[in-house]
Amino acid sequence: MGEMIFLNPVFKEVIWGGNKLHTMFGYDIPSDHTGEGWMISAHKNGDCVISSGAFEGKTLSWLWDNHRELFGNLEGEVFPLLVKIIDAKQHLSIQVHPDDAYAAEKENGALGKTECWYVLDCEPDSTIVVGHNAKTKEELKQMIEDKRWMDLIRIRPLHKGDFFQINPGTVHAIRGGSVILEIQQSSDITYRLYDYDRLQNGKPRELHLEKSIDVIRCPHQENDFAVQKTSGDGFEAELLVRCPFYSVTKVTVTGKAVFEQNEPFQMISTIDGEGTIDGVSLKKGMNLILPAGYGTYEVEGNVTFMVSGV
Ligand code: ZN
Repeated sequence: MGEMIFLNPVFKEVIWGGNKLHTMFGYDIPSDHTGEGWMISAHKNGDCVISSGAFEGKTLSWLWDNHRELFGNLEGEVFPLLVKIIDAKQHLSIQVHPDDAYAAEKENGALGKTECWYVLDCEPDSTIVVGHNAKTKEELKQMIEDKRWMDLIRIRPLHKGDFFQINPGTVHAIRGGSVILEIQQSSDITYRLYDYDRLQNGKPRELHLEKSIDVIRCPHQENDFAVQKTSGDGFEAELLVRCPFYSVTKVTVTGKAVFEQNEPFQMISTIDGEGTIDGVSLKKGMNLILPAGYGTYEVEGNVTFMVSGV
């Protein structure tokens, strides 16, 4: 059985970021404009370094390239998933992602991006953008041309504990005042549709209207995955989504529970409470990987975590 894999996050400073990765989770962050912590990532724009154990000092991409047995000998050029914590002090731009086929053709063989969000925390009366109101591509083009942004986008109320699956082609945006756990395909391809007419260093950030129009699905389709609940000795579990790229299950342990890691790998992201996993401390904001063949593991405490994998 391999050992648990712990990683040092990679932090990203952005105009819309804040300091909650420090104040909520205790991470050392570069500034008060830290918008993202890439907690589990082998992406070239933020390749996490392993923080302990036999592979200390190596990157996750190195581990993927050199010890594929730890990932069940999965095929693929890159470690397929990326886990982030996002601290949006201000609104992110309104955006959309391509699917694998479009990204492969138009973005040098990059992966498309399917992502999902779990709301770790948000301020009262927070909102989020998921979906749009154009019935056809023609209507979409017209609304964009007329700059009828507020008619176009669907702004929804947001609550702690909400979960959203964002398929390629879905117009979306995280808005100010929310802290979100994002589990996604390992891709950085984003088309910016609207940026609230904001300026960065005196200039608007680039928009990608043509590509956005290409990939936005019309009409918007609601995610209709039906959450599946199970329970057992000491735990309750909810399968929040299963899609071609990942599955995500929310697990709440009260007391003590034993689980089995029998997948190519499992990523554990702690979202609430405190406890231990095989004797190692688990607290809110902590992430780790259980490698292939890890076998059974015991979680103790009052702790809620996501288990995700391919
Ligand atoms: Zn996105």
